[in-house]
Amino acid sequence: MVNNERTTCLVVGGGPAGLVLGLLMARGGVDVTVLEKHEDFLRDFRGDTVHASTLTLLDELGLGERFAAIPQRAMTRMRVQLDAGTAELADMRRLPGAHQHVAMVPQWDFLDLIADAAAQEPTFALRRNAEFTGLLRDGGRVVGARYRDRVDGSEHEIRASVTVACDGRGSAVAAAAGMRARSFGVPMDVWWFRLPRLDNDPSGAALRLSTGHFAVLIDRGDYWQVAYLIKKGSDGPLRAAGIEAFRRRIAGLLPWMSERLAALESFDDVKLLDVELNRMRRWDADGLLLIGDAAHTMSPVGGVGINLAVADAVAAARLLAPALRSGGIVPRALLHRVQRRRYWPTVVVQSVQKLAHRALIAGPVLENAPATVPAGPMPTFDDTVDPKTVAPTSALPLPLRLLQRFPVLQGVPARLVALGPLPEHAPDWARRPEAALRG
Ligand SMILES: Cc1cc2nc3c(=O)[nH]c(=O)nc-3n(C[C@H](O)[C@H](O)[C@H](O)COP(=O)(O)OP(=O)(O)OC[C@H]3O[C@@H](n4cnc5c(N)ncnc54)[C@H](O)[C@@H]3O)c2cc1C
Repeated sequence: MVNNERTTCLVVGGGPAGLVLGLLMARGGVDVTVLEKHEDFLRDFRGDTVHASTLTLLDELGLGERFAAIPQRAMTRMRVQLDAGTAELADMRRLPGAHQHVAMVPQWDFLDLIADAAAQEPTFALRRNAEFTGLLRDGGRVVGARYRDRVDGSEHEIRASVTVACDGRGSAVAAAAGMRARSFGVPMDVWWFRLPRLDNDPSGAALRLSTGHFAVLIDRGDYWQVAYLIKKGSDGPLRAAGIEAFRRRIAGLLPWMSERLAALESFDDVKLLDVELNRMRRWDADGLLLIGDAAHTMSPVGGVGINLAVADAVAAARLLAPALRSGGIVPRALLHRVQRRRYWPTVVVQSVQKLAHRALIAGPVLENAPATVPAGPMPTFDDTVDPKTVAPTSALPLPLRLLQRFPVLQGVPARLVALGPLPEHAPDWARRPEAALRG
């Protein structure tokens, strides 16, 4: 057992929340160590979105130019393709500020950028292959953590003034602290799979909705990442019906993909995302704070989990870094201020997600899914919509009808998705001019 390690702020988990927190703490002059159980950030698909408010944050941190150099696509509108035609959901061009889009970038490129910037700070350390295994306590107070090096199996203890759980959904840190989230029911799970993408395919992202079926397609260069909604708990029975039945469903929904469905050789190629929507009542304990998915796991609706996790991290750094820099014990009341600031934006987003589950997904999509789908139209991917493909308003459910009738309303979902209810800005002490980081 190696037990002489010490840091000021211990961050468990190197996802969007943990790395942004690590970068900001380090820029604030705080000794910070991030434990990440994986070797790199090249993991399974976890969302590719970098939202307008995060783009602004990157500008403030002096990382905007480096981010812009990463190959990416810009999503300026969200549309859904119904059997009856196309309907508009959100128009990012109505956003205030410097960025009127959501950037689509593989999450590992975004995380690499943040980790590289943090590595330039002398007080930052990232321990890779370091898996959290337990909390260190002094009386009732959390004073650090135990972790295992997954390469050589060695066990370590690291002491810290404050420990921040950024280890995502099903947080091991929260479990070790005996903190349990309140779970809100969700009607769906998601199947994820890849289909080949050809050079002359359209690009970008698209939503395809038919009676009983809903799919999201995300362009990832040489393949499509496809999300297909299924009724909560129906994974077993649907798999038992066989891969050929599933191929037929997708062939109906996305007939232009029919030839490529042989790529789904078996259900081993189809991954289940057990969708969760939950929230901790308290995000803090003595010496411990939870942020990001560890404090509130989000539904995939709207693709907003990354944005909220990043905003939590910025707020936590702004509130805690000054106290940590001066070296004293951080009182629980100060930790609780992070929750006080970030709780209501989380509640707002989760409430909208719950509403969308009820109004747009549970009944309309999941309750009456026929086993086969009549051949549907090609989804709309780019900025030009053929007026002949626009859905007649009368064919739409009420929320969509209102969005078509009053286009100004499309700015509301755009704001919620691309900015979030309370975008957070970098504190002055964390900002750097672009030029200072070049070379
Ligand atoms: C399939 C899928 C698709 C998604 N699509 C989108 C999308 O398009 N847009 C969007 O905004 N959100 C999306 N999300 C949600 C988004 O990924 C999360 O909300 C966001 O990543 C939360 O960030 P986080 O830093 O809190 O946690 P995470 O991103 O989950 O990061 C947690 C980190 O902690 C590490 N870790 C876990 N346990 C330990 C341990 N014991 N010791 C050390 N390290 C540990 C993990 O390896 C990971 O790096 C998606 C999620 C999934 C699962």
